[in-house]
Amino acid sequence: SNIVAIVGRPNVGKSTLFNRLIKRREAIVDAVSGVTRDRHYGKSEWNGREFSVIDTGGYVVGSDDVFEVEIDKQVELAIDEADVIIFVVDVETGVTGMDEDVAELLRRVNKPVLLAVNKVDNNKRAENAVEFYSLGLGDYFTIASINGSGTGDLLDAVVEALPEYIEEEESDLPRFAVVGRPNAGKSSFINALIGEERYIVTDIAGTTRDAIDTKYNQFGFEFNLVDTAGIRRKSKVKEDLEFYSVMRSVRAIEHCDVVILVHDATRGFDGQVQNIFWLAERNRKGIVILVNKWDLVEKDTNTVRDYEKQIRKEIEPFTDVPIVFISALNKQRIFKAIETAVEVYNNRSKKIKTSKLNEVLLPIIENNPPPALKGKYVKIKYIMQLPTPQPQFAFFCNLPQYVREPYKRFLENKLREEFNFHGVPISVYMRKK
Ligand code: GDP
Repeated sequence: SNIVAIVGRPNVGKSTLFNRLIKRREAIVDAVSGVTRDRHYGKSEWNGREFSVIDTGGYVVGSDDVFEVEIDKQVELAIDEADVIIFVVDVETGVTGMDEDVAELLRRVNKPVLLAVNKVDNNKRAENAVEFYSLGLGDYFTIASINGSGTGDLLDAVVEALPEYIEEEESDLPRFAVVGRPNAGKSSFINALIGEERYIVTDIAGTTRDAIDTKYNQFGFEFNLVDTAGIRRKSKVKEDLEFYSVMRSVRAIEHCDVVILVHDATRGFDGQVQNIFWLAERNRKGIVILVNKWDLVEKDTNTVRDYEKQIRKEIEPFTDVPIVFISALNKQRIFKAIETAVEVYNNRSKKIKTSKLNEVLLPIIENNPPPALKGKYVKIKYIMQLPTPQPQFAFFCNLPQYVREPYKRFLENKLREEFNFHGVPISVYMRKK
């Protein structure tokens, strides 16, 4: 989908606006899984148009008392990656030098820039907003992101400014995105995979400017690689900035079926790599973790087991994910990596017959019914897989609101045990019968 970036100096209200724009549902999903990672990226929808929103401020280290150079990075990020830029300023403080610097960068940009004057919650302030004309960005929107006033008009303009939606050329082939933090070995992996000859059949440009699907035929598997990092790499310096790699990942992840997450075995499975992992999970994509540079790790009999255990602990509660130990450099287990990605793809597109689902799960539920809540007994009557691209299951029952998270997790685990959804996020819904 398209990307809308929010820029501006600290404390103007970027993250309040961000929280207002992203979907409520998403916030709830996060609360439920207990995951509150990566609060700077989310999906939004307005007038039926979906788009992603990035709070660029969130990716700049120390952005609370920011230096100009950090702001420049933010703006650069937005200029490079976003389709529409929202520049937030603060009517309380008026035009600052930093605002002028940002405006100067933005005036040179050949992309829609929407100026949002924030904290306008009375008429006096609305009058004061006039001074922002001096930024040379034309008309502005007055908003109060704290209560949402004015954000509707702003969103109308955002949607208006988005590039025309192009229906993506659908391909039946699995789409894999190779992502990971800088220097994890993504390019090395891709080189090990496709070698020198780069057997490219077609190039299909997707809906976005620079996410490229390229069709490959390797090891007897046919698939598309969604590669934003490798093919169109800018400067290595930029690539090393966290937010650049996260932005790249966002685009690639949104365009794929299965995320191949390349992780550097010599580093901890933390921060940035976790962000990417949860990004994939939140987008309901299949995931394979490749632990790369395994040749550099000193091993004894328990090393693999311990290492695996450590990673699974970091990705709780979504631990049902394949982990493959590879060396891109020595071309070790590259075939296994792709084979696993294909398996995950198949798991994700799996459709279980309603009769089979009920035959297997109803007896299990009979033996382990949802615990009574406030004296109410929940009776699950039947189960259905929804016709969505990724696995979602509806459990029809009398009192859906009385089923709590732990029981839903129990159901999810049973689905995993019985039907194999290795590497695939699945959704369990309780529905009123
Ligand atoms: P990218 O930024 O994720 O594309 O990472 P690169 O593919 O550019 O790799 C970063 C560095 O790690 C390079 O110096 C590679 O030679 C090295 N590297 C990549 N994979 C391996 C591996 O499996 N083993 C070892 N020892 N080094 C590797």
